[in-house]
Amino acid sequence: MLRLPPFEYLAPRTIAEAVEMMLKHGSEAMLVAGGTDLYPNMKRRLFEPKKLVGLREIKEIKRLEINGTVTIGAGLTLAQISRHPVISERYPALATAAGLVSTPQLRNMGTVGGNLCIDTRCTYYNQTEQWREALSYCMKKDGHICWVAPGSSRCWAVNSSDTAPVMIALGASVRLVGPEGERTIPAQALYHNDGMEYLRKAPNEILTTIHLPNASGVKMVYKKLRRRGSFDFPILGVAVALRQAEDGTCIEANIVLGAVASYPIKATAAEEILVGQKLSDELIEEAAKAAFKPAKPLDNTDMGHPYRKQMVQVYVARALREIRDSQ
Ligand SMILES: Cc1cc2nc3c(=O)[nH]c(=O)nc-3n(C[C@H](O)[C@H](O)[C@H](O)COP(=O)(O)OP(=O)(O)OC[C@H]3O[C@@H](n4cnc5c(N)ncnc54)[C@H](O)[C@@H]3O)c2cc1C
Ligand code: SF4
Repeated sequence: MLRLPPFEYLAPRTIAEAVEMMLKHGSEAMLVAGGTDLYPNMKRRLFEPKKLVGLREIKEIKRLEINGTVTIGAGLTLAQISRHPVISERYPALATAAGLVSTPQLRNMGTVGGNLCIDTRCTYYNQTEQWREALSYCMKKDGHICWVAPGSSRCWAVNSSDTAPVMIALGASVRLVGPEGERTIPAQALYHNDGMEYLRKAPNEILTTIHLPNASGVKMVYKKLRRRGSFDFPILGVAVALRQAEDGTCIEANIVLGAVASYPIKATAAEEILVGQKLSDELIEEAAKAAFKPAKPLDNTDMGHPYRKQMVQVYVARALREIRDSQ
């Protein structure tokens, strides 16, 4: 059985207290919410913080504010998001994505903020300390080489969040609070195409809320590919959000691919193909082909990467057809 390394758990009751604790303990401290990503990683000695600043007691980040738009507290669980009637009605793709994360137990513990900030994953990294030691480790933790691309100077670990592609497709923004103050950035700007520096935020910045713009008239779908239908991380996630005119002409298109790179990729060329057009079979195939191009899956997660790349085309086409056929 893998055991957690020793650490001290701190339980702030406000965001301000949490920020202060993170500042005080510097690089010795990490944030933890549900712990469903961090604790398994700590058991594998991928992280060995001396202090954990737990966010579970902070009420401020457990609210859902509903008016024309919706603001989600980062501390709400995936189960709460997936079952909330307003989220299901206004942002069904988000409810779907949250409801497809892992298992019911982990969705009851795991938070939406934690889901947006999960560590990137790789076959050579998400392993026990002994396994990694036998291989002299890798660049992302304790080593010097990338086993996926040995000539590469960067890490290619994969962003496997289910909700991140949906948040980006919906044009969400996230509020970050840290010792330097607070800022709000588009969800897309939170991510970086680098398996090691995967978030564009300071380690002591807390993601407090996610703001979803009004999505009336937007049709949206999230599709997830994984080996086991009720457990696994995505090996491909496709989020599509389309705004259409009454006659079905596409006014705005957002297509975001998850789990095929170190960050969620916006399939910009495919989006451009759709705008100004109606969703015919031919157009869907053309857009799906364009969406497949920027996907760069490598051999560092489940199933073969050529298969995963091919499936981008299939899943984007399926998502677009589902939107078209729902009209
Ligand atoms: C068996 C298994 C299967 C899984 N399957 C999936 C899956 O299918 N899809 C998927 O997306 N995930 C999956 N996960 C990962 C995880 O369960 C979820 O992503 C979950 O939402 C993480 O949320 P958490 O609150 O538990 O995060 P934590 O583990 O508490 O934190 C994760 C990371 O985010 C940081 N963090 C947490 N909250 C904040 C915040 N508010 N502000 C700033 N940083 C923060 C932490 O410091 C940590 O680095 C799986 C995990 C396991 C163990
Ligand atoms: S992509 Fe390379 S450096 Fe990154 S975790 Fe995998 S093996 Fe390590």
